[in-house]
Amino acid sequence: MVSANASSKTITRKTAYLIRDEPVRAILLALFLVLSATFSIREHDPPAVLSAAVSPQLFSADRAVRHLAVIAEKPHPIGSAEHSIVRDYLVRELSNAGLEPQIQQATIATEKGPPIEVAAVENVLARLKGTSTGKAVLLVAHYDSVPDSFGASDDGSSLAALLETLRALKAGPALKNDVIFLFTDAEESGLLGARAFVNEHPWAKDLGVVLNFEARGNSGPVLMFETSDENGWLIRQFAQASPFPVAHSLSYEIYKLLPNQTDFNVFRKAGLAGFNFAQIDGLSHYHTSFDNRQAVDEGSLQHHGSYALALTRYFGNLDLSHTKERNAVYFDLFGDVLVHYSSLWVIPLTLFISALFVAVVVLGVRRRKLNIRGIALGFLSLFASLVIASLMSWLLWKVVWLIRGGPPLEAIQSRLLLMSFVALALATTTAVYVLVRNRVDVVNLGVGALLWWLILMIVTSIFLPGGSFLFHWPLLFGLIGLGWMILAPQSKSSLNILILGLCAVPGIVLLVPTIYQMFVGLTLNWVPLVIALTVLLFGLLMPHLRVILAPFKWVLPGVAVVAAIVLLVAGGLSNYGNSDRQSSSIYYALNTDTGKAVWATDPTRRDERTSALFTGDQEKGTLSDFAYARKSREYALSSAPAAALPAPQMSVLEDKSADGVRAIRMRISSPRQAGIFFVYLDSQADVLKTLVNNKVIDEASDPKKQWGLRIDGFPQQGIELQLVVRASEPLKLRLVDQSYGLPGTVSQSNSDFTFLAKSFSL
Ligand SMILES: [Zn+2]
Repeated sequence: MVSANASSKTITRKTAYLIRDEPVRAILLALFLVLSATFSIREHDPPAVLSAAVSPQLFSADRAVRHLAVIAEKPHPIGSAEHSIVRDYLVRELSNAGLEPQIQQATIATEKGPPIEVAAVENVLARLKGTSTGKAVLLVAHYDSVPDSFGASDDGSSLAALLETLRALKAGPALKNDVIFLFTDAEESGLLGARAFVNEHPWAKDLGVVLNFEARGNSGPVLMFETSDENGWLIRQFAQASPFPVAHSLSYEIYKLLPNQTDFNVFRKAGLAGFNFAQIDGLSHYHTSFDNRQAVDEGSLQHHGSYALALTRYFGNLDLSHTKERNAVYFDLFGDVLVHYSSLWVIPLTLFISALFVAVVVLGVRRRKLNIRGIALGFLSLFASLVIASLMSWLLWKVVWLIRGGPPLEAIQSRLLLMSFVALALATTTAVYVLVRNRVDVVNLGVGALLWWLILMIVTSIFLPGGSFLFHWPLLFGLIGLGWMILAPQSKSSLNILILGLCAVPGIVLLVPTIYQMFVGLTLNWVPLVIALTVLLFGLLMPHLRVILAPFKWVLPGVAVVAAIVLLVAGGLSNYGNSDRQSSSIYYALNTDTGKAVWATDPTRRDERTSALFTGDQEKGTLSDFAYARKSREYALSSAPAAALPAPQMSVLEDKSADGVRAIRMRISSPRQAGIFFVYLDSQADVLKTLVNNKVIDEASDPKKQWGLRIDGFPQQGIELQLVVRASEPLKLRLVDQSYGLPGTVSQSNSDFTFLAKSFSL
């Protein structure tokens, strides 16, 4: 590799044993950077799956996945028959493990409305007794699915992980603290199961730490993406106990700002300490019929279990009476270790690194390697690269989206597109570099680029302290690299290039996985942000780009543009057998007052099923008889035979009036045992109070809005409804019950529903 061309004669004898050939050095440095980046992403893959043959004290995804045979056999939304099958399976498994499971039944309403949304929930829970009387560890996963999904990953894999965790705990030594297993109901209907537990269950007072397990996709590493507030103590324990931690405090900051909806929200708002886990890759499976058993990534399941078992054993033996402490800044390295420190360090670190920045600038100016004009040019050229690359990627993504339309991208396609946009960002940054490099020395470009890092470091330190690590450490090492370049006599020597390469590692190791996770989490819809961060990383690598570009100049931007085009075509314009994730839904709606029935479906979706029912010229209309305030969207309609189904029923138990206020107590039921029930008001009345099964669920709702009620998980025996109203005319109530599936022999899909309506005048 050592060659003796003319330019190398100037190199001192000291470094002669090192690589002197410019193109070779350039290629080696580029390879080193690319490999570091690839390694930092790959190292975040989930841990290896353990087979069913491993020691019973270990967690095996192979053992856990067997539970999905029952849990994910069919969609199991609240109010469906399959929902009861999953509930009973969980009860059986808990008692097979030697616990005494119970079902918490509660009627509970969301805070929003009207219409008021109520669920009759059935949480499944059990307690593994510890040897002492400390606070308990709570393990949570929800057991309801959305109607159109098998709920295999969301949240079946978490249920399976917790059942396997229970088995492994029983096989090991007893813990000091109790461990409570809570399988919540109605997560998908406004987190109502978790709310019922926190508000009403006596065990909610015993909790020390909460571990909630979720899924927003079907694969990839399981991220510990959210914690309760004041997480300093929690993070220290998490770092100690997690075998494969994937977590960073930026996601804590982001989730604090998002109106995200998982059961953990309820626990966090109740002031409980804890963690939230989820795999987020494979978003196209989420809440679709593709979230089935075959699509479950056993690696994610193993990762779920690695957290659940290790953390339960750890917290199970800790004193959990003081779990709150000032927030921590934390990030994992290669999914192996968690670096963490108190957020108290954020401002001192910012001050120290800012001072170092000033010192490097002063040193550079004194040594005549830096000048204000040069720094300004560096600052502006990175900004130009950033704006051009982000805008272009956003425009191209919009164009691809417009040309393709239809079903969402497969995972491989969005990755190819991301690579295309990254190549484009590289082309832009290197092209701008080649254009300005003759006007100004690279140290100026580097310091100008780092000025952006300095600004972002200060902004995040103040407003998003949990995200400060992303700028602190890369900037610190970037400054060391540039300082070295200013001080070193032979800036192009191989030793200096080696030092430069090493100084780039913190930036790559911290930024590349974060950029990648951001892309996975936010999808290409946020591509400008993802690309802006990518260009920022290239800004950190200005001195490296000089070494890499020196022998090649326009070759690299050129190759990057060609790569971007090829990747764009491969990812965006080709077809990978994508199928529409959402199958058509057909509704059967029978108004039992008129005896008229219709088939209804979304007019924009056509497939074999719908064309069999919706023939000839399509009629369009609404399903106002079945909707709140008679408002309904437009459907394709086709008349249907009146099925012999029993209408929803009501019987008045009590009807009292005093001082113009009327109190009516009635029993409502669905003789055909539909799982979802609506009660609508079609006359003028102020509803002062609503009670379901003697529990007040709403008081003095907005008189300007029509009163209405929806009940999920409607009990087979029906419910008792009490209304206290002020009205000058008779009450007109419309009852609608909704069941899964269609009557008769029509071919069925998971999101078909049958509605029956009946009106009552009181
Ligand atoms: Zn979920």
